[in-house]
Formats: sequence, structure tokens, C-alpha cells
Amino acid sequence: MCDTCKADSRDMWSPCTDLPKLVDIRHGNWISLQRCPNCRELWVVSPFEPYAAFTYMVKWPRATNDWIRIHDSDDAATIHEWMKNEIRRLYPSAAPEAQKQIDAHEVRSYGHYNLTRSIATNPVEIGDL
Ligand SMILES: [Zn+2]
Repeated sequence: MCDTCKADSRDMWSPCTDLPKLVDIRHGNWISLQRCPNCRELWVVSPFEPYAAFTYMVKWPRATNDWIRIHDSDDAATIHEWMKNEIRRLYPSAAPEAQKQIDAHEVRSYGHYNLTRSIATNPVEIGDL
């Protein structure tokens, strides 16, 4: 069990005041790849609108170089789309407190991201690009 990012028990962090402090691996276009200094898990981190005040973190299941290659191929468009769909996929199984944070963000952003529309699988391909 990692006391820093809790990677063993969660795949996502929704906007809250106690996000773990990770190490920047690569800073991109309003999105970054970060590594847990304790367990070395990779996380994709992005501040969502409004005011870039709603930061989410989701686990990155591939290698660092994959993230950089996909990010740089279209200025982060695919990575952003993948991340939004990861949040939608993980929403139904998130802890009640995390769901409440996502619900509050949806209200605050007037449903702009539609993050509570749960999906079974992420439609964005990050495999063989
Ligand atoms: Zn960790």
C-alpha cells in the first residue's frame, strides 16, 4: 500500500484539497505526466475548467515514452480525450466522496465535461499509435 498516491486502492483522484504531491516527469499542454516518489506509479494530471481549478489524476497504464509520443503527436488532444473517458469509466466505482467531488465539478462547469456519464470501456485508443 502506497501512503502517498494510494495506487493499490484507487485509479483516480478527483478534485480535492489533499491531492498527493508527485514528481513532474513531463509537463505538457494543460496536462502532465507525474510519478509517485514513493511507489513510482505514473499518473496523468490535468487541471480542468473553470479557472483550471479542478485537478484530476488518473493512472497512466503505459510507459513514459508512450505518453510523450501520444502527447506530442497532436498537442495533447488524444491524452485529454483519453483522460476524460477514464474519469467517466472510473466514476461508477469511485468512492462516494470522490463521486460527490465529481458531481460538484459537473454542477460548477454546467455539465460541460459530462464526466458522470459512466462508460464501460475507454473508447480512446492509446495502444498502437
Ligand atoms: Zn505511490
